[in-house]
Amino acid sequence: MSIPEPLDRLVRCLARLPGVGRRSAERMALHMVGDRGGLLREMAEALKDAAERVGICSLCGGVTAAGEDPCRLCSSPTRDGSLLCVVEDATDIVVVEKSGAFRGRYHALGGKLSPMQGYGPDDIRLKDLLARVEREGIKEVILALSTDVEGDATAGFIADMLRGRPVRVSRIAFGLPAGSGLVYADPVTLSRAFKGRTDETR
Ligand SMILES: [Zn+2]
Repeated sequence: MSIPEPLDRLVRCLARLPGVGRRSAERMALHMVGDRGGLLREMAEALKDAAERVGICSLCGGVTAAGEDPCRLCSSPTRDGSLLCVVEDATDIVVVEKSGAFRGRYHALGGKLSPMQGYGPDDIRLKDLLARVEREGIKEVILALSTDVEGDATAGFIADMLRGRPVRVSRIAFGLPAGSGLVYADPVTLSRAFKGRTDETR
């Protein structure tokens, strides 16, 4: 069965979201267009609003309100500027912030090293990280990465990159839940992970 072009376009967009396959995308799209309560219209407005009013902070890589760059977290004088927490994605910043486990600043890499997926050092924000460490007088870089092969490789690479510089490189006691977008990492566990952080050496 061929589906109308506008619906197919919607399906193709949804299928590009992480964790959404073609079948789920079709189910979502059909649910949206079939909803008489106006979900599709509301969603369209929310998407337009987000496109216009939400941006990415050029410093930390986290989400920010349009026109606020650097973001509030980066420019807040009450945050500890000597501590920098390195995460994979902007969504991880939200997870850590919700937990209240950390009072420093953030740096989202926008991915992790993954030779399998063709992600090398130049594909994630490692140069920006190095520049920040040199420029901002950071005393400790805390790696809050996932504990899979790619997370380990990324942590090792950063430790090597910063070796010989006057900065401590540590890693939280265990990784953030993979693809943590909507996963709720409970605050107590996350606080413990930050407190129990250890030096990253390779
Ligand atoms: Zn920021």
